[in-house]
Amino acid sequence: MLKIGHSITRPGRRHGDAPVDINVPEELETVPGIVQRPPEVDFYSREYPLESQQIDYTADREWVWTVYNKDVLEDRRIHDTLNKPIVAAAKDSGDIEPEAEPNFGRDVTEDIRLRAREMGFHEVGFTRFDMRYVFKSKKSWVKFPHAICLAWEQDYEPTQSAPSLWADGPHHGVYRTMGAVALDLADYIRSLGYHAQIHSPNDNSSAYIPMFVEAGLGQLGANGQLLSPYFGSRARIMIITTDAEVTHDQPVDYGLHTFCSICQVCVNRCPGRALMREKVWWRGAEKHKLIYKRCRPVMARYEGCAVCMKTCPVQRYGVPAVMEHYAATGQVLGKGTHLLEGYSLREMKYYGPGELPSFDSQFFDIPHGKSEDVLFDDLKEKIVAGEVAGNGKGDEVLQEFREKVSTYLNLANQISAPGLDAEEA
Ligand code: SF4
Ligand code: SF4
Repeated sequence: MLKIGHSITRPGRRHGDAPVDINVPEELETVPGIVQRPPEVDFYSREYPLESQQIDYTADREWVWTVYNKDVLEDRRIHDTLNKPIVAAAKDSGDIEPEAEPNFGRDVTEDIRLRAREMGFHEVGFTRFDMRYVFKSKKSWVKFPHAICLAWEQDYEPTQSAPSLWADGPHHGVYRTMGAVALDLADYIRSLGYHAQIHSPNDNSSAYIPMFVEAGLGQLGANGQLLSPYFGSRARIMIITTDAEVTHDQPVDYGLHTFCSICQVCVNRCPGRALMREKVWWRGAEKHKLIYKRCRPVMARYEGCAVCMKTCPVQRYGVPAVMEHYAATGQVLGKGTHLLEGYSLREMKYYGPGELPSFDSQFFDIPHGKSEDVLFDDLKEKIVAGEVAGNGKGDEVLQEFREKVSTYLNLANQISAPGLDAEEA
């Protein structure tokens, strides 16, 4: 039995459940939250601010619609239609005035936490809304200083079938459910006399995970996702900001920063080889960095993929069981088993532990960056190839280029419009 370094007591998994103790072995301890260098986080946020995928990755966001199969297309279209009014309501929520006078001097943290849990949110934490993680295009939209971090558990059973439409459907369903419940929670905060601005799970204002880590709701996994205590990366996340009187929670060391370096199951099982074995320093934090251009082609063609979510022991068994097993055996719970590591790819086959699919290099050859930049590269190639002649044919090519660029620029201006933001960042 390994020596236990510290114990954490978390509220029970569901509202009304008894609290649960998590024992973290001493050899897995690092720091609460994430290992970071704050001056570097400051520097990158100031000099190289983050930007939304919906602005910086428009080329591949457009491309994915050309490779979705018909079932996925139908699923995405239905989701977009149902989700549109929820995202629109969230966007304007910060402008709604409170319905009562606040009771100054009364801390309402536990009132909000209790109401959020009663409404169905599974994890609730409070922290400073950290402007260092806000997207450049959203900086002037954010109004209030405190972040209420809200996680909703994606269904267990369908997720174990990923990649599949059965697993991908609930993922979108959860976004709609939590988005709609957040409207009611915001009303409740206003009834206490305070403002509430909803940061939708489908129209992200910022990188949400660092604030969830700061609020003690998990740690960043090697799969690039929040590993929450009970359901790992099945936590679907969003934020409500407020000016209410609240007390911030503290980050927690669940032992996962070290555990991921030992586990590596998601890294070993990723069909796109998009996950890194070693951590790197990235924008001031020490983390495993996902290689987007190797993930996106797989996600788009295989129902959102999510193999890295499905094969994670924290997702399947939860932190308490994973830590208990590691303390008793020094082993990663489920590692090497078909149950945890196996998956099938549509029209390919089943891949058990140690087996991976292979794809030719064309598979990964997709458009990157902004649509208008891809178009400009295409024009440059045509000019070099002599296809843009100084005659009628050349005018035609330039006319087509002009029309497409204005379409993309118009799209970029409407980027936060409801319905354009269905894809997860
Ligand atoms: S979604 Fe699939 S391809 Fe992307 S990182 Fe996860 S396992 Fe790899
Ligand atoms: S599979 Fe293992 S390495 Fe990957 S995120 Fe989960 S715990 Fe970390």
